[in-house]
Amino acid sequence: MFKIAKENLSALFQLIAEKQELYLPVKAAGQTNFAAWDKDAQVDLDTLKTVKSAKDAFFPQSENLYNVTKKEKKMHIEPGALKEQDFVVFGMRACDVKGVEVLDRVFLADPIDSFYAARREHGTIVAMACHEPEETCFCKVFGIDAAQPASDVAAWMIGEDLYWKALTEKGEALTEAVKELLTDADEAPVEEEKEAVHAIVEKLPYMNLSLEGWNGDALKEKFDSPVWEELYKPCLACGTCTFVCPTCQCYDIKDYTAGESVFRYRCWDSCMYSDFTMMAHGNNRNSQMQRFRQRFMHKLVYYPANNDGMYSCVGCGRCVEKCPSALNIVKVVKAFQDQGGEK
Ligand code: SF4
Ligand code: SF4
Repeated sequence: MFKIAKENLSALFQLIAEKQELYLPVKAAGQTNFAAWDKDAQVDLDTLKTVKSAKDAFFPQSENLYNVTKKEKKMHIEPGALKEQDFVVFGMRACDVKGVEVLDRVFLADPIDSFYAARREHGTIVAMACHEPEETCFCKVFGIDAAQPASDVAAWMIGEDLYWKALTEKGEALTEAVKELLTDADEAPVEEEKEAVHAIVEKLPYMNLSLEGWNGDALKEKFDSPVWEELYKPCLACGTCTFVCPTCQCYDIKDYTAGESVFRYRCWDSCMYSDFTMMAHGNNRNSQMQRFRQRFMHKLVYYPANNDGMYSCVGCGRCVEKCPSALNIVKVVKAFQDQGGEK
């Protein structure tokens, strides 16, 4: 266990950034999101939840897959570059780290997504324990410990110090690279901090949300339930919930023509949109109820059915905070609890 004084964190960021890219929460235009560090960045480690999760670091909102250029009568195809440079994502929270595990099971399964795999290979995660989880958090429902992130390096901000513990080989390597700024530390303050965080977590309103009846076996019962018919109605199909979510992984692939070249890129998409996965014959899900149902069935039934019971929600609560119609996964689970799914 090591520690570094808060006042020396700028030096730590400078040292990391001399050797590799560094992404961390930065405040800009009144919002905090993950961004590349530079010496003028307004680093914000106090905001618990960035507006968007840190998933861009591994699965960017938009990226080029390849370019096609016409040269005389021949087409020249140039694949998009895979990540080759090491980088650090500093300040993720335990829920977002678990979100990366959810993405891993999609993008690292056969056929492996080479763009994502390259980023996972080169990325090191330094995650910060939550000091004061908020009312919208319910990570514990999914077995996540807000006080002990399962990352390459776990960090705790306690008083005027940041405590630092390497948990993986990548974490050890990063620790070695910045060791000149770290000092040995006693574990006792961290153990006390964990207890204090757990005490807060126990009192949060959604921490005891029951997922009983939601799993891979509940497919037909949940799919056919009339509960969806009322529940979906306030949904505006804005897609906000999917864009802030650390586990949503749908994307579209499009072409962009620029003179003699065509760029093929992918960008995040939302299953809440009416043109999502549009095919020649139309859309498989042709009502907003069906699209709404798909999002929650995927997180609570389909994904666990294919991933050893693991849900594809991590209880970060962003959809609880950001949906303009106050719809979210908590409301869905509660609606089924209150009304039953079989009427
Ligand atoms: S559930 Fe809310 S955030 Fe999601 S698409 Fe509907 S209105 Fe938008
Ligand atoms: S569904 Fe909502 S609470 Fe769950 S991970 Fe996504 S944004 Fe967070």
